Amino acid sequence: MQIIEIYKSLQGESSYAGIPCVFVRLAGCNLRCVWCDSEYTFKGGSRMTQGQIEAEVRRLSPAKGLVEVTGGEPMLQEREVVPMMENLLAAGYTVLLETSGERPLASVPPGVVKIVDVKCPDSGEGGTFLPENLNALTVRDELKFVIASRRDYEFARDFIQEVASSLCASIIFSPAFRKDATGSRSADHCLVDPRDLAEWILADNLNVRLGFQIHKFIWEPSLKGV
Ligand code: SF4
Repeated sequence: MQIIEIYKSLQGESSYAGIPCVFVRLAGCNLRCVWCDSEYTFKGGSRMTQGQIEAEVRRLSPAKGLVEVTGGEPMLQEREVVPMMENLLAAGYTVLLETSGERPLASVPPGVVKIVDVKCPDSGEGGTFLPENLNALTVRDELKFVIASRRDYEFARDFIQEVASSLCASIIFSPAFRKDATGSRSADHCLVDPRDLAEWILADNLNVRLGFQIHKFIWEPSLKGV
């Protein structure tokens, strides 16, 4: 597999936020979201075997726990990443897969928690979610919408009301963060005011979770490997 980095930090997003987690970050992405904070994954990385990756995960987290497979878009390396996730599950890890849902997800092992980042219009990649992936969601999976505007909010609201509200355990609305944010650890870097987003959710009586990228409030927002 082509790997950018493997490191341990706190899980920054999803309903697992705040829990120590080993991140396996794969190289390559076929999307170009305008607020992407992971452009360094688009090229490069190092070739690692499944055994080397699993050994590094064991070294960083010998007591098992949480592992997130992320990118880039990890499902671009489906042929190798699926057996790796099966091995990590068999070894006793809780495995999260962060994906845009643009690639088919039917082959993902059912024990993996899929965190599917459905792209909203102002990401520049709206319409890339593969509708058939709704059939691959289980009750342990999570749908995430990164929201940069009122237009994005309305897209996410209408999406869950039309198709997805009964399909997943958790739905997360997360304010998009400026990709060039540096210095202060502040909600001022969000592209939509979190208070506005909270009030829209409450006004529409949505049963969703307001989520933040908490690592950008713990560490300097441009820091990599956290
Ligand atoms: S899918 Fe993820 S890695 Fe790819 S461009 Fe969008 S935010 Fe960046």
